[in-house]
Amino acid sequence: MTNFMATRPQSTTGRIETCLEENEIGMIQSIRGFRDILPGETERWRTIEKTASELLEFFGFREIRIPVLEKTELFCRSIGETTDIVEKEMYTFPDRKGDMLTLRPEATASVVRAYIQHQLFAATPVQKLYTIGPMFRRERPQKGRYRQFYQINAEVFGIASPLVDAQILFMLTSLLDRLGILDCTVHLNSLGCPACRAGFKDSLKTMLHDRLDRLCEDCRKRADRNPLRVLDCKVPGCREALQDSPSMIDHLCDDCREHFDAVRRHLEALSVPYTLDHRLVRGLDYYTRTTFEIQTAHLGAQSAVIGGGRYDGLVKALGGPEIPGIGFAIGLDRLVEIHALVQEVRQTHPRVFFCALGEDAQRMASEWICRLAVEGIEASMDYSGRSLKSQMKQADRSEAPMVVMLGDNELAEGQAVIRDMSDKTQRKVPMEGLLDLIRSAA
Ligand code: AMP
Repeated sequence: MTNFMATRPQSTTGRIETCLEENEIGMIQSIRGFRDILPGETERWRTIEKTASELLEFFGFREIRIPVLEKTELFCRSIGETTDIVEKEMYTFPDRKGDMLTLRPEATASVVRAYIQHQLFAATPVQKLYTIGPMFRRERPQKGRYRQFYQINAEVFGIASPLVDAQILFMLTSLLDRLGILDCTVHLNSLGCPACRAGFKDSLKTMLHDRLDRLCEDCRKRADRNPLRVLDCKVPGCREALQDSPSMIDHLCDDCREHFDAVRRHLEALSVPYTLDHRLVRGLDYYTRTTFEIQTAHLGAQSAVIGGGRYDGLVKALGGPEIPGIGFAIGLDRLVEIHALVQEVRQTHPRVFFCALGEDAQRMASEWICRLAVEGIEASMDYSGRSLKSQMKQADRSEAPMVVMLGDNELAEGQAVIRDMSDKTQRKVPMEGLLDLIRSAA
């Protein structure tokens, strides 16, 4: 492959030369891990987004839109300096003034920032917010894992009650039901509070140090810096070494235990099945108490579709008042993949296709397309003025159920020929009645 950097002429405005040269060579592909979602797929994305946002709104959530670019510090302070996301995966760069900026790797930190910045807690601390959009992490791309991926993210501020933890899981399982996705399991754990977690971390560290030689390289580093993460390492050697690892649930303080027991009772009352999973620690440091993941058997290694939990200390840590929070992120890319296995999504087609012969007929067809579009009816036409046979082929490909044919004769008579594409019958109709006819067929 040509090495553009090596062959390009030296210049004082190097950046522009580089762009031009690459353009000259040929087609530019998208970046690895960044993909296009094409027509034919976007219908499914929109169906899912619509189903989810409707359900979220029935549960009292309101949409918030936040920027994709934030100060790097926001993520370092919230997600945690020693997490994989912050250490290895963020797209971070200085802008032209030298400020360090990061493409958001997740949305919670930004939503919390906005909640504090706009004092949304002033009227009432209870706020339920959701947002849909892209996130960026420089992970190794593979099926179900991208560097730009999409999440539906929701946060509840100001409710410490375990009732809301259970409500959220009920809502998420209902969403999966609505989407026809049945093969999912709720994994539940509690990470306690900083006080009881400290004791747990200590006993885990002691165990990890005794078994360092059985851990993978990453986990050897994590043993001191972020021991909890060792628990959810997927490397078989690590899993085996930690088969009898201590469980956070056994280390919960009285308040955290009470909260966890209450969440379980409420889940049972709402008939939400779940599995206790003491290895579920999640990749972000801000979680406290309830943590959960919804996993599926459909996706191989990337089995987590939804992840979330409580973060009672995060609002305060980011400079706000002491207000509890709980939230989750739905991985849309993965949800879309599973949805495609279980449900068809209807593609949209024009309702009418105009075949027009001659300049006047084409102008009239074009007027009809505009008129119908503002009526909410999608119509299409052939713009080439080629033979009727060729235009009919295109009409066929468009899958429009009705074709309107216009030529000089029809214009002179004030008529149009209508072809019903289901039975291929044709008839002439007066132009005045055409709109009603199309409306009633649409
Ligand atoms: P997290 O923000 O890490 O808690 O992840 C929440 C959900 O986002 C996961 O359960 C996945 O479904 C999805 N997700 C996270 N990272 C990626 C990625 N790199 N590519 C696709 N989906 C992802």
